[in-house]
Amino acid sequence: MSTKTESRDKAEGKGTVQTYGNFIDGKWQKAKSGETFASISSADQNEVVGHFALSGPDDVKAAVDAAERAFTAWRRTPAPARAELLFKAAQLLEARKEELARTMTREMGKVLKEARGDVQEAIDMAKYMAGEGRRLFGQTVPSELPNKFAMSVRAPIGIVGVITPWNFPVAIPSWKMFPALVAGNCVVFKPATDTSACGVMLVEILNEAGFPPGVINLVTGGGGKVGMALVNDPRVHAISLTGSTTVGRQVAGRCGELMKRISCELGGKNAICVMEDADMDLVIEGAVWGSFGTAGQRCTATSRIIVHTKRYKEFCEKFVERTKQLKLGNGLDADVEVGPVVNRSQLESIHEYVEIGKKEGAKLLYGGNILTHGEFANGCYHEPTIFGDVKPDMRIAQEEIFGPVTAIIEVKSFEEALKVANGTDYGLSLSMYTQDVNRAFMAMQELESGIVYINAPTIGAEIQLPFGGVKQTGNGHREAGVAAIDQFTEWKSIYVDYSGRLQKAQIDAYETHE
Ligand code: NAD
Repeated sequence: MSTKTESRDKAEGKGTVQTYGNFIDGKWQKAKSGETFASISSADQNEVVGHFALSGPDDVKAAVDAAERAFTAWRRTPAPARAELLFKAAQLLEARKEELARTMTREMGKVLKEARGDVQEAIDMAKYMAGEGRRLFGQTVPSELPNKFAMSVRAPIGIVGVITPWNFPVAIPSWKMFPALVAGNCVVFKPATDTSACGVMLVEILNEAGFPPGVINLVTGGGGKVGMALVNDPRVHAISLTGSTTVGRQVAGRCGELMKRISCELGGKNAICVMEDADMDLVIEGAVWGSFGTAGQRCTATSRIIVHTKRYKEFCEKFVERTKQLKLGNGLDADVEVGPVVNRSQLESIHEYVEIGKKEGAKLLYGGNILTHGEFANGCYHEPTIFGDVKPDMRIAQEEIFGPVTAIIEVKSFEEALKVANGTDYGLSLSMYTQDVNRAFMAMQELESGIVYINAPTIGAEIQLPFGGVKQTGNGHREAGVAAIDQFTEWKSIYVDYSGRLQKAQIDAYETHE
């Protein structure tokens, strides 16, 4: 088994920047092409976080070969023994939490407190899924025939391809890999290129926890080459993808052709609804956190705020005032509340939406600029941006922006708020602020989303409940909670006939009056 240090090649004359390989069959190795790419810090585009293997289909093939070799022994390993390795991983993640969080902040920009939260989600998930090693519940049900036993058990799917985005670079891979592993699958993991360092560190930790060679493999590189090669390999039985709806549609389409299981966690256009009886102080704190936490780059970020006309003016004023106080900067500084966005192209795409909003006639209440002065000069910083007078059908109210931009929409009633909240193609997270218990329950019933919050913003999921969305946000699967196990197992139904004779279900009637 290779050690952590073996994963780090010499710096290749690039100062202290290190070069990292793929992790295949328990060994760190260069891409077959020998080429690398750089991961750049969001806060300083001149800072290279690391060089990573620029992989292609041959590397994916080698990883799948390794996973295939490892699979039989791994699926035969008792689930509680598989789980022990996840407990160990949880401990190692705890020990390296700070190091991992700092790498994350450097690499993709989220502020350190949030980066620690990202790692904590992985720790929580490791412990939760380790517990599953002693559950993995199936069912026993009565048979309609005498002396016959009926049960279902879970079987692993086989080799799982894990394709992840950059915005939760430790949490999201953990949500996928940990349930897949405890259920007895082998994994080939492709992290987003922008967060390859986080991906490498996570795999180093899993390797240190003692997973056998081939059970976990890491291949770094782009979606078109590495991601698609994973999707296309017939020996990869399931793909678990989190990313944009555009990529989801493409990957799911291909998986459909190949009859391959695919779970997609995709975009969102999440909304907070603020009713006339809402506790405004609570709303303002929630709206700021939901809109500008992780610089608005959460799939659950609050990108619409639907406010009752009676509180509209008050909300707009207080929200802008509170937003003005946010401290922007490098997320490594303890007092910074909003960090940079992930990269230049994301920055430009966010800013395009600001221009679109202006052209559509929305009122720019605050922000709207890319920051280029002083400490922001080399980073990817966008001001927190608030649009008022947004109409529900404007593009900034319909399309995912994935940055610190939020749209305030005025409504005249509770019913209209529900209609507007539900009026997008997405359905990840919706929230209702009200003091009225009847309206709260009505909102829980009527909001069309995988996640509903009452008197809390659209972000803040915990790992013990299912996570995912409806409509264009997903394709019916859920991560986290016990639901995650369904994504990574096949049901096997087993009948044991101990009557000693042929019994025909639905044909032989059991006589009750012998
Ligand atoms: P993205 O869709 O660009 O990329 C996601 C992953 O897919 C990356 O690893 C990428 O390399 C890979 N990929 C790209 N093209 C591919 C292809 N043709 N075949 C296979 N793989 C391919 O998304 P991103 O920019 O990394 O992340 C932001 C998006 O992720 C947002 O839309 C956000 O809403 C979404 N997201 C959703 C959730 C959720 O749970 N619903 C959580 C986090 C992020």
